[in-house]
Amino acid sequence: MLADNIFLKIIDKTIPAKIAYEDDQCLAFHDVRPQAPTHVLVIPKKVIRTLDDITDADEALLGHLMLVAVKLAKELGLAKGYRLVVNCNEHGGQTVPHLHVHLIGGRDMAWPPG
Ligand code: AMP
Repeated sequence: MLADNIFLKIIDKTIPAKIAYEDDQCLAFHDVRPQAPTHVLVIPKKVIRTLDDITDADEALLGHLMLVAVKLAKELGLAKGYRLVVNCNEHGGQTVPHLHVHLIGGRDMAWPPG
């Protein structure tokens, strides 16, 4: 096992998830409590707890996560639009301490977010 948080357990397949995409750098899976008709999480396989923990060395990895999210948005039929969200720490609403990009779509989104 990589470490003790739920997303790392999903990466090492010790708990199940509905996987939408996987490669050597990242994993994408459907959120267990979807906030919209489509709600996928794209996570790095590298252990990164929050946006505050990224470094210059992660620049390409972060771009990769976004490219994967956009490819998935197209594959999942979100032609009318979608939203990518990264929550960071307490005020950002982050509940799982492993960096993740929310891909949310399939309905109109409100602004500002709650
Ligand atoms: P955040 O609040 O930004 O940290 O987002 C964490 C997300 O992880 C929430 O949308 C949860 O519904 C989702 N989540 C938590 N546990 C699981 C799980 N086992 N499988 C899929 N999604 C999960």
